[in-house]
Amino acid sequence: MIEIFDARVNTTYDTKTGLYTTQAVIADVIIQATITTTLPTWRERGSASQAEQAKWDGYLEQLKGFQAEHAKDTFVRLDQYRSSLLGLRGTGSGNTRESAMQMAANQINAKYSEAKNTLFQNYNADGKRRDANGGHTIRPY
Ligand SMILES: [Zn+2]
Repeated sequence: MIEIFDARVNTTYDTKTGLYTTQAVIADVIIQATITTTLPTWRERGSASQAEQAKWDGYLEQLKGFQAEHAKDTFVRLDQYRSSLLGLRGTGSGNTRESAMQMAANQINAKYSEAKNTLFQNYNADGKRRDANGGHTIRPY
């Protein structure tokens, strides 16, 4: 998974207090994710009976359907994750520009970690739900 962030950062300096203040916001996020499904192969398929081959092929089709449902769940969660990152804000202040920016970045990083934890928790919960009895909408073969 690749994440590309567009952050807007604005730092101001107050001559009265001598403090720098940074406002940072995640303006856009691009997430690239590739899901690879590796299906089992049966080397002896060619030497099996027609009935056995048909049974195997049906099993494989069912398995593809199951995996497609898991992939669909994952992309739904990735969309939610992206939405939760958009507009994320951090604020910092300090005696130097760098310390103000670092504080703002630390706040955003903490929220980013929370969002990522939520993504993985939801992803794992979806997998468990799908693999419970009746969790897949495809009829058992
Ligand atoms: Zn499954």
